[in-house]
Amino acid sequence: MANPSLSSERAVAAPKARSLAEITLLTQAERFKGRPKLCSDCGICGGELRPLMAASCVFVQNRHEQIELRLHGRNRNDGDELLFGITRAIHIARLRKINYEAQWSGIVTRLGALLLERGLVDGVVATKAAPGTRWAPLPFLARTPEEVLASAGNTPCLSPTLEILDEVRASGLKRIAFIGMGCQVHALRALEEELGLEKLYVIGLPCTDNTSYPDLMRFLGVASKSPATVVHHEFMQDFRVWMRHEDGHLEKMNYVDLDVSALGGERGIFPAACLSCFDYQNGLSDITIGYLGAPLPPEQRWQWMLVRTERGQELFELIKPLLELGERSEAGNRRVGVRTYVGMLRRPRKRPSAPVRKFVAWMQRNKGPKGFEFARSVIEMKLMRNLVFVRDQFAKQEQRIVPRYVYRALAYTADVYQEEFGRPLEP
Ligand SMILES: Cc1cc2nc3c(=O)[nH]c(=O)nc-3n(C[C@H](O)[C@H](O)[C@H](O)COP(=O)(O)OP(=O)(O)OC[C@H]3O[C@@H](n4cnc5c(N)ncnc54)[C@H](O)[C@@H]3O)c2cc1C
Ligand code: SF4
Ligand code: SF4
Repeated sequence: MANPSLSSERAVAAPKARSLAEITLLTQAERFKGRPKLCSDCGICGGELRPLMAASCVFVQNRHEQIELRLHGRNRNDGDELLFGITRAIHIARLRKINYEAQWSGIVTRLGALLLERGLVDGVVATKAAPGTRWAPLPFLARTPEEVLASAGNTPCLSPTLEILDEVRASGLKRIAFIGMGCQVHALRALEEELGLEKLYVIGLPCTDNTSYPDLMRFLGVASKSPATVVHHEFMQDFRVWMRHEDGHLEKMNYVDLDVSALGGERGIFPAACLSCFDYQNGLSDITIGYLGAPLPPEQRWQWMLVRTERGQELFELIKPLLELGERSEAGNRRVGVRTYVGMLRRPRKRPSAPVRKFVAWMQRNKGPKGFEFARSVIEMKLMRNLVFVRDQFAKQEQRIVPRYVYRALAYTADVYQEEFGRPLEP
């Protein structure tokens, strides 16, 4: 039976003005019209759950550490957990039979399909490409393994995935899996007890710097010589964007060569919400599956899997027979680079000349952090950049939207932060 409090809210929900396939194509301005300034369009406010926005939105109140206590009975320990979230195990893995249509080896969609095949769930909330597009995300409720498998590959833009909970509730399904981003998982966990589900498996994707579909197209226009023929792209751990084209050829662009000013700077392309997000590694999932800490080369399609909860362990055991396990690796020292980055946030530098960029790219690839150390460096830089953004643009909200683990993670930069910004790192 539906939760009574939710049933009565159903009556006051606004009628849907646009279909999900239309929403996903909108610009940021169109999409966020009438929304709070900080919104990632997670899907709560577009559907019947809108009345529960204040109780669930990560940008109204970041409840991450409260939910961590509920899931794990504790908050993050010092060390890697401050960056990666609470884990009981981290594995390097790939599917033995790689799915070359997938974003990496295809673990996520295979896992979703397995849950349906084994009858462990009745539906999987996933995201596929909207009709007529390659990259615009269309969330949907998959009822068969084939439907989940067909959603392989990223549609790397903001997706109102939680709106599919309306369909879940209407269909009366009680055992579901959810594949989604940190902001979505935060809201889902905040509402979990109200949804009346018997079983919920949460498969998290890491996520940073997401954007709207038109802005992704602008990005590809700047990054690629032939944006229309890009069929796969990823920000790789070798400090380059790799773009694969329809004819199979690979185009690679150094991060340092990306002309971010042509996109209006980071603040011109990324929504304020994504610049105020502190959950790159989707810390409230049962299991997070990404690539950030996995070894190169990318052609080998290694991924990393962060097992968080008992249910996450169950998911890992389910997919394990289909996995080849690899070795975790790390090299280099991120700390000097991260400390220097604090100064660059305070005094942004002009785009260097081409020879300097070439040298920087070579240094990053050959002397920069690798493996887990690369993952730590990226996460710390995003935490720091986003803290600076919140203080600059949404200072009054800092206490509500920045979780405590952020200050603990960045504590080793407190002296350089104080020197650059003339105020303490920790409020
Ligand atoms: C916007 C975005 C940003 C990401 N950023 C990072 C990152 O910075 N670091 C990192 O390690 N990993 C990141 N990932 C995850 C990574 O790119 C792969 O999706 C992940 O490793 C799973 O690969 P796979 O081959 O197992 O997935 P596949 O088997 O190919 O399955 C991909 C799954 O992604 C889901 N999906 C696709 N697009 C979206 C979307 N827009 N919103 C929600 N779900 C979606 C689909 O439902 C599908 O189930 C990101 C993913 C997305 C969508
Ligand atoms: S992020 Fe989600 S819950 Fe928050 S305002 Fe946007 S749609 Fe609503
Ligand atoms: S960067 Fe954060 S806020 Fe933006 S879509 Fe990803 S998880 Fe959500």
